[in-house]
Amino acid sequence: MADPASRVILSAPLKGWATRLDDVPDAVFAERMLGDGIAIDPLGSVLHAPCDGMVLTLHAAGHALTLRTREGAEILMHIGMDTVGLAGRGFSPLVREGEQVTRGAPLIAFDIDALAARAPSLVTPIIVTNPDRFSIVERCDECAVNVGDMLMILAARDDAPAGSASAFAEHSRSVTVPLAHGIHARPAARIGGAIKHLSADVALVSGERRGDARSAVALLALGIGYGETITIEAGGVEGAEAVATVAALIESGMGEGVNAAIPAARPGTQAPGFAMPIKMLPDGALRGVTAAPGLAIGTAFRLRIAEVVVADEADDALIEQRRIDDAIATVSARLSRRMEQADSTASGIMAAHLAFLDDPALRETAMRHIAAGESAGRGWQLAIAAQVAVLTGSGNARMMERVADLHDVEGQVLRALAGVAETAVALPPGCILIADDLLPSQLVGMDTDGIAGLCTARGGPTSHVAILAAGLGLPALVAMGAAIDTIPDGTPMILHADAGHVIVDPAPDLIASTRKQITARAAAKASAHAAAAQESRTRDGIRIEAFANLGSLADAQLAVANGAEGCGLLRTEFLFLERDAAPTAAEQTADYQAIAEALAGRPLIVRLLDIGGDKPAPYLAMPVEENPALGVRGIRVGLAHPDVLETQLRAILAVRPIGQCRIMVPMVSDLGELRAVRAVLDRLRIEMAVAEPVELGIMVETPAAALIADLLAAEADFLSIGTNDLTQYALAMDRGNPAVAGGVDGLHPAVLRLIAATCTAAAVAQRWTGVCGGLASDPLAVPILIGLGVTELSSTPALVPEIKALIRRLSVPACRDHAARALAAGSAAEVRALAGDFLEQVQP
Ligand code: PEP
Ligand code: MG
Repeated sequence: MADPASRVILSAPLKGWATRLDDVPDAVFAERMLGDGIAIDPLGSVLHAPCDGMVLTLHAAGHALTLRTREGAEILMHIGMDTVGLAGRGFSPLVREGEQVTRGAPLIAFDIDALAARAPSLVTPIIVTNPDRFSIVERCDECAVNVGDMLMILAARDDAPAGSASAFAEHSRSVTVPLAHGIHARPAARIGGAIKHLSADVALVSGERRGDARSAVALLALGIGYGETITIEAGGVEGAEAVATVAALIESGMGEGVNAAIPAARPGTQAPGFAMPIKMLPDGALRGVTAAPGLAIGTAFRLRIAEVVVADEADDALIEQRRIDDAIATVSARLSRRMEQADSTASGIMAAHLAFLDDPALRETAMRHIAAGESAGRGWQLAIAAQVAVLTGSGNARMMERVADLHDVEGQVLRALAGVAETAVALPPGCILIADDLLPSQLVGMDTDGIAGLCTARGGPTSHVAILAAGLGLPALVAMGAAIDTIPDGTPMILHADAGHVIVDPAPDLIASTRKQITARAAAKASAHAAAAQESRTRDGIRIEAFANLGSLADAQLAVANGAEGCGLLRTEFLFLERDAAPTAAEQTADYQAIAEALAGRPLIVRLLDIGGDKPAPYLAMPVEENPALGVRGIRVGLAHPDVLETQLRAILAVRPIGQCRIMVPMVSDLGELRAVRAVLDRLRIEMAVAEPVELGIMVETPAAALIADLLAAEADFLSIGTNDLTQYALAMDRGNPAVAGGVDGLHPAVLRLIAATCTAAAVAQRWTGVCGGLASDPLAVPILIGLGVTELSSTPALVPEIKALIRRLSVPACRDHAARALAAGSAAEVRALAGDFLEQVQP
């Protein structure tokens, strides 16, 4: 028996029923391919640390984590079966790789109900993945456990091999990983299993890192993703066979999907035209998701943040409670001071952080934990963790991205508690900042003047950091995974945020040609901005209105500064998404009025609340739907809740001057919906004595609406095509599903034909057709849309000058010919190729 110092006690990381691995419905675990352990059928929704240790790996999908104890035992916890395919949905990691945690610390919050609906099993194996060094000497199985109960005792093996140096690689081969989710737990186990019987030292090499192919944890730590090219190296008598076996196994795809496992970009932020098809990723490039577009050259600089030590020992509860109140007050005061000097985007984000600090529920939860004996810091951490679990449980990507803001507020208060000053990090000029997940306060607190761009391992394209980066004009990629951890400081990089990749250590000639491209782009942008105020007409004098999509007053101000001629889509739900009570008519009117005034008389198309589907509103009770994208969303919500519809219509009718606001109905799929809204509008106009006409248009977002556009155009004042939804419904591809992200392309000829049908029908009825979906922000799409008959383009505010500059270079007859060719193309890729050639011809 090993001495007690090398014993490791693992406590239950979850409340639930502890069971033998044999009962896990997956051979990888049941046959102990990853190692021995115990599984828990969970009743709780937070995975806790079973011991003190360091987070060795945290899978990008948030469903699996490995801890290494001080003694060297490696413990893998894998929440549910087949959960890697959820691509992070339902999981909210509360720790980061490399973080030291103590027994009982919350590691991952997960939405147990959502997982129960989506995963084949919730059973969570807890595995010792280095059985050559540790064996299980005691275990508790077939019993109910609470978090913290003894689960297993491990003992270091006397016969453990000394740290094995990798043998000289006599054989090697490179392969490109076709597995949709990269080398995660199951493939790692299968690789180890396939070479178990061979006498060979085998390693997988990714960039500068190598991992023993027999160690699942070592392979997980490499973070090998889809599309990555890795090398298999082996030495020993059966080395050649080992290389061939592993290569064949990886290249077979191991029965996993072969799609890109990257989150879908927010339509409109990543113009699809810029996205490079997966197969065209250049050599040595690392993929990310576009959070802010742009092209930059810089040198890598990793942001290193000192950990704040949170006191475990608590003083008297009253003293601890006073500490937390003082810390909250310190942070609030600092944020309020900073807000006064910040621009509107940054101050809006700081206002959101102040709202968290003011949140009575958050404070009360912290106080409750402190009253129960926790220190101020622990109480605050637990309160934040509970709130994180609520946001994660919403299943709404936008809400889940607020988790980063909560962690930001958490860190600020913990640093205030520990008396750590918020000092700005000194950034080397021209650097590309690399971080695990940048927090808004970190970005706001930095001197970003000299930096070239941002890359984060985690984060999402609609996070506050993404919005801030776009506002600062910093190209940014998020969700790049662990691969960026290996880039040494000072390495030259080309950040191609438009195309969604970085090239690490590029060849000098590539740097030189990219530099030329950057200069040319800057010149084109400067001249587009200089001409932004000019009216938007094609070369042959046809008027194309260049409008902007807005979600806030700040957007309106930016749009006007950039020459927008109106707002083609006010996403009113964004004004009200993060509230817990329905907005009153007066509140709505105040918001719309402020935006109307910022637009200074330009038309303001107000879209009626488009909630439901991926945009739930907490204040509106809506039943859980099996398939919300096909359920009660858009105008269906308004018609099911007439009070909501009526309040909003009243609010719009109260904006002055009457007529500046036009009303747009989302997600229309039949004529009855338009008539129902028109009836309410007419009644309210009489009640509110609004004699002037108020335009009522529809969004064409369903194939049904496009196909009956003649009927709709006969009664609607205008038609505006929501290409984001129209694409997902026409192609039957969920716009938020990473597994089909590569195919959701509005330039698919089927979508173009629906747009063509809409424009033709609208023209017959003498109504105008606009586009307010992502295609209007895509330079490749603009000439085709104009050729199909679109006369209003509502794009992202920041892009308006460039869209206007492009319109000025086009002539309508040439666009018509080009559009006709696009309609006859066989695929979106073919259309993109045609569009690329066309755009080259019209370059200045
Ligand atoms: C669209 O669907 O194209 C659209 C503009 O609406 P949203 O993206 O807000 O659903
Ligand atoms: Mg839509």
